[in-house]
Amino acid sequence: MAWDFETDPEYQELLDWADEFVTEQVEPLDLAWPHLQFTQLEGKRREAIDPLKAQVREKGLWATHLGPELGGQGYGQLKLALLNEILGRSQWAPIVFGCQAPDTGNAEIIAHYGTEEQKKQYLHPLLEGELFSCYSMTEPHAGADPTLFTTSAVRDGDDWVINGWKFFSSNAATASFLIVMVVTNPEVSAYQGMSMFLVPTDTPGVKIVRNVGLYGEADNHGSHALIHYDNVRVPAAALLGGEGQAFVIAQTRLGGGRIHHAMRTIGLAQKALDMMCERALSRETQGSRLSDKQFVQGYIADSYAQLLQFRLMVLYTAWEIDKYNDYKKVRKDIAAVKVAMPTVLHDIAWRAMQVHGALGVTNEMPFLGMVTGAAVMGLADGPTEVHKTTVARQVLRDYQPTTDTWPTEWIPRKREAAKAKFAEFLEAEVGNL
Ligand SMILES: Cc1cc2nc3c(=O)[nH]c(=O)nc-3n(C[C@H](O)[C@H](O)[C@H](O)COP(=O)(O)OP(=O)(O)OC[C@H]3O[C@@H](n4cnc5c(N)ncnc54)[C@H](O)[C@@H]3O)c2cc1C
Repeated sequence: MAWDFETDPEYQELLDWADEFVTEQVEPLDLAWPHLQFTQLEGKRREAIDPLKAQVREKGLWATHLGPELGGQGYGQLKLALLNEILGRSQWAPIVFGCQAPDTGNAEIIAHYGTEEQKKQYLHPLLEGELFSCYSMTEPHAGADPTLFTTSAVRDGDDWVINGWKFFSSNAATASFLIVMVVTNPEVSAYQGMSMFLVPTDTPGVKIVRNVGLYGEADNHGSHALIHYDNVRVPAAALLGGEGQAFVIAQTRLGGGRIHHAMRTIGLAQKALDMMCERALSRETQGSRLSDKQFVQGYIADSYAQLLQFRLMVLYTAWEIDKYNDYKKVRKDIAAVKVAMPTVLHDIAWRAMQVHGALGVTNEMPFLGMVTGAAVMGLADGPTEVHKTTVARQVLRDYQPTTDTWPTEWIPRKREAAKAKFAEFLEAEVGNL
């Protein structure tokens, strides 16, 4: 019976190595070079980080998100999940392991839909970790509903000319290229009329108007760009996949992106739980340790249970992706994971923060960053509400309405049926009394 929660010993050895390596070598990068993980490596920073990447490569843990046919290691999503939950503890770790969002999702769609030339130009350097990419889809007036997008590309001879605005294009400022979703045929439904283009960031007309930061980040030092595409001319060869294929491609990308975020979120939530437990055991007040107070025990028990449920859900979904090799078949569970993710991270980080008292809300501890991260998880790659709708629709597909006034499980009718089914035995039982 193949229902197993064990990791094979060879891979477990690699995970143990990764665990120690991230703690000792990578987490310190978050403090030495905070928020610089998406800027080009140069000078001393390259000197420090290149050897770390080399060690990851030597271990065969570089870019494990893609299969061998697509240029990656071919470990599959389940193994990636086990690795990602270690990497989730550190901002720099995904970069050092060559599997950072949004580049993973972008690499995945170029691998699936790109021409040989596009793979050579974009995918190979992306997999090498030598450049960054940006996924430019959301518009200032519309995010959750892509059918409202208006940024367009119009054919002009052998070229396409892109015009419009995109918002929250993460990492555009440091990316070498943008994957832009635009309307190419306004006459048909958005599902058939939108296409994706690969646009080098230095193409004339790509204007980054401002880099929006998350709360607490300094003005114009954020990484989420408002971009004006102002008569951006690209050749026909810049089209990714076929004309009108943007929605199909987006689903491929976002499916992978969402589950990868969830894998890393396990690591972050575990870190919060670890800190909560350490603090609970260390701090004494009113005659006993925090860990002896029932409220705090409740925080710990609830957090442990929430995280365990979430982790099993993520690992199961990763296993399903490996099994079916088709995101569409796993859509319901990916959406369910996406729905659960912000709450799990928020609740555990919030409780950990509370247990740390005043120190918890300072910039000397990471909890408010985690809480902001939870809020981001409820929006990036689509708001929770939209994913709930997806889950509900998919769940409802397995059900039929009843034509009867009374529900199928209405007890009086079922009781009558049960009595009729066992009439012979029920009579005998009465007779024996
Ligand atoms: C940190 C971060 C990074 C991001 N990176 C990128 C990126 O790299 N590229 C990119 O293209 N986009 C990116 N996004 C944008 C993200 O995809 C959008 O924020 C998201 O799709 C929601 O769009 P919106 O913000 O315009 O919200 P809106 O569409 O205005 O929705 C606002 C709210 O309305 C409600 N709502 C919306 N639709 C429904 C519905 N159907 N049913 C019920 N309620 C609903 C929800 O409460 C929702 O939060 C990023 C966002 C964040 C926060």
